[in-house]
Amino acid sequence: MLKELAFNLLKKLSEAVAPSGFEDGVKVIVMQEMERSVDKMWIDSMGNIIAFKKGNGNGRVMITAHMDEIGLMINAITNDGFLKFVPIGGWNERILPNQRVLIKTLDGKIIRGVIGVKPPHIMRPEEAKQVIPMTELFIDVGASSKEEVEKIGIGIGSIAVLERTVERLGNPNVVTGKGFDNRAGTTVLVLLAKMLENVNTEVDTYFVATVQEEVGLKGARTAAFAISPDLGIAIDVTIAADVPGVPEHDQVTKLGKGPAIKIMDGRAGSGVIVNPAVLKLLIDVAKEEGIPYQIEVLSGGTTDASAIQLTREGVPVGVVSIPTRYIHSAVEVLHLDDLINTAKLVIGAIKRINKKWIEENIRKVIK
Ligand SMILES: [Zn+2]
Repeated sequence: MLKELAFNLLKKLSEAVAPSGFEDGVKVIVMQEMERSVDKMWIDSMGNIIAFKKGNGNGRVMITAHMDEIGLMINAITNDGFLKFVPIGGWNERILPNQRVLIKTLDGKIIRGVIGVKPPHIMRPEEAKQVIPMTELFIDVGASSKEEVEKIGIGIGSIAVLERTVERLGNPNVVTGKGFDNRAGTTVLVLLAKMLENVNTEVDTYFVATVQEEVGLKGARTAAFAISPDLGIAIDVTIAADVPGVPEHDQVTKLGKGPAIKIMDGRAGSGVIVNPAVLKLLIDVAKEEGIPYQIEVLSGGTTDASAIQLTREGVPVGVVSIPTRYIHSAVEVLHLDDLINTAKLVIGAIKRINKKWIEENIRKVIK
């Protein structure tokens, strides 16, 4: 069943240890899962996975999901064996204390550690209320000296992510885990390849699992240049702030109400403003196929689509997002129906794009 497949894929992908720049842990899973469904697959010089599905050659569509997650990098080891770290990507330091982490040693072993803080009993009352700056946090691997840490294989430049398995909540269609940003999108990308396996399309499709999105949309930028697509669609998560204390008008999207079709993101539109023809296409697909959807306008953050849009002479882009609660934490929450409907929506779009659509909407010849 599609929902079981989606859950199992999300679990496998989410539990990988693979922050930006160190995506190998997730890359192997993506390649394994996609290999049989596409005609060609390669890793480009930046590290992106490009999986190519041949259509009738009447256009090139690039579908991306970034496979990196935010993480930490060890930048110092204290003499008494604690690890200091710097962020990879946008962390809120309130999330980090009291978490278990998985550290990847320089030779690829996975080691468990914890981010401990001083117990409340010995905190001064003012101190107990404060957020501890990241520069004061540390990882404890149970070692008692720098030498012991080095013997374990951890060194400057080792990376770490939060340790969290993917599990179902009270409502079994709602799941929680870390790194749903953007292993949820990566799951959809893999599903797309599988679901389109025996479908003939007018356009050739490039499924791209991008690297280093969380540190500046880097992989998408180079992949888009190489592919030079007629159209790009990014799949990512977006804010679902439908929780107590957030007024309705600030919630952005709601969990379980369908994929979000984006119109704009970034501060004051500095991220992306999507192409109106692509926007219309996505909304038409949702309406025609009875897929629930939400319209998204986000005032901060952006996706790979921003980088794709500004490639060469410009690329028309759209974004489909999976509503996710508590993004960039260890307890991200999403609804499996939203995940599956995201895949259905993007498939509907790919099927409808042909030479005529591109000529009428994308490269209009005026004279
Ligand atoms: Zn993301």
